[in-house]
Amino acid sequence: MPDALTLPPQQALVAGEWVNTTTTLQVEAPASGEPLTRIARCQVDDVEAAVQAARRAFSGQLGEWARWSARQRSEWLLRFANIIEANHEQLAQLECADTGKPMTQARGDIGACARYFRFYGGAADKLHGETIPFETDFAVMTLREPYGVCGQIIPWNYPSQIFGRCVAAALAAGNTVVLKPAEDACLSVLRLAQLAVEHGLPAGALNVVPGLGTEAGVALAAHPNIDHLSFTGSPETGTRVAQAAAQHHVPVTLELGGKSPQLVFADADLDAALPAVVRGIIQNAGQTCSAGSRLLVQREIAESVVANLCERFSALRCDAGEADADCGPLINAPQKAKLEARLAAAETDGICVAAKGQLAASAPSGGHFVVPQLLTDIPERHEVLQEELFGPVLVVQVFEDEAEALALANATDFGLCAGIWTRDGGRQLRLAKGIRSGQVFINNYGAAGGVELPFGGVGRSGHGREKGFEGLRSYTRIKTVAIKHD
Ligand code: NAD
Repeated sequence: MPDALTLPPQQALVAGEWVNTTTTLQVEAPASGEPLTRIARCQVDDVEAAVQAARRAFSGQLGEWARWSARQRSEWLLRFANIIEANHEQLAQLECADTGKPMTQARGDIGACARYFRFYGGAADKLHGETIPFETDFAVMTLREPYGVCGQIIPWNYPSQIFGRCVAAALAAGNTVVLKPAEDACLSVLRLAQLAVEHGLPAGALNVVPGLGTEAGVALAAHPNIDHLSFTGSPETGTRVAQAAAQHHVPVTLELGGKSPQLVFADADLDAALPAVVRGIIQNAGQTCSAGSRLLVQREIAESVVANLCERFSALRCDAGEADADCGPLINAPQKAKLEARLAAAETDGICVAAKGQLAASAPSGGHFVVPQLLTDIPERHEVLQEELFGPVLVVQVFEDEAEALALANATDFGLCAGIWTRDGGRQLRLAKGIRSGQVFINNYGAAGGVELPFGGVGRSGHGREKGFEGLRSYTRIKTVAIKHD
């Protein structure tokens, strides 16, 4: 399988050139544990060179980027969306092999990546400041300016989508980028960067420094010559990145984890709700920040809903990504071990595993598979209700009425997404206002990914918004110009 893949360079992208690093890291296929390829292992000096290149490109000392108008940036981003689509299948195969996710999901991710470039390409020349009616002898305007050099640190679970979300928005606004992809999965990102350079992105506009979080990630977050940082990953690392950024007063967008609830009321359309509840947790084997990982169900339908879900979970199959089953493997052995330890502790605490999926006979033996599971009879405030498990595990809680549903929905430190399933219009709006989260979905979950829809968290899920126009604005800052005249 690896022979058929178009593997990207085992180097870093600095100032428009692919450059060697002193050492490289091995990347393994999560479905088999077998070596897939190697990637560059950037250190402090490599990050330094990348930041300098991004600075020179932003200030007009390197390449054409600083001279490109908003219209030129728009045209390039729109053209690059077409290039991603032209390479769609090849990129999806790389994403599937590298992350282990089912092919259909990998194809969807590449499609979403192209949509980000199209959306932000369309928006690049429509982003502007305002004029402000001030005193009669003044003309006042705001200029919406790029920050300058954006440092972006992204995770392994949706490499190509998050590349699109961060890089397209930052470039559309006129910034330059130093991107640190995740060591566990970054091949699609490297290939996308390679395509970008081959198709005319000016030198230094995008620089990519693969490597370890503790090396390249730390160096980038702490760099004094960065103007804006965007981090997507775990809450713990997010805290470290924000602390490093604070040393230089650099603004940070944090997209962290979630423990998002799906609330199912007795009046819900269960034929629509229950498949969406299952999809919401098994997508990418539950390794999704916005996974609907808690099911809150109203008491009068709880028994029948759980029975229905048991049937659905029992029928779920895990296999390698290319087999395109319901679930792929987890990303690596430590993630698998961590999840299995938590599940063993839950069983010791008397939590019921009401249903489990199956591992396909064809699944490779060395893969990091954990089958989907449905947990019930969970003591209040148990760890599995509070912590992100980052696997295909759905925990069930029962509520009596709307007030209890809201209290349970808000009973974690996270606040990323929520799904509400009810036909009662008043309840839909009361809960949409009452739930503490960045996104609320009513009678759907996730709005099919919606690149146009602002996304981000509250509390331990982070702050700042990516996606949509909000995401684009967050890569700009306002300068006020006040002109006094006769
Ligand atoms: P992680 O925080 O370990 O790693 C994320 C990125 O940070 C990687 O590129 C890693 O190399 C880098 N990194 C690690 N330590 C660093 C440090 N000290 N300084 C700077 N960079 C460092 O997270 P993960 O295990 O890769 O991803 C899983 C987590 O990310 C989950 O909690 C998940 O919910 C969250 N996540 C959130 C979103 C979102 O948009 N909100 C999206 C995907 C994943």
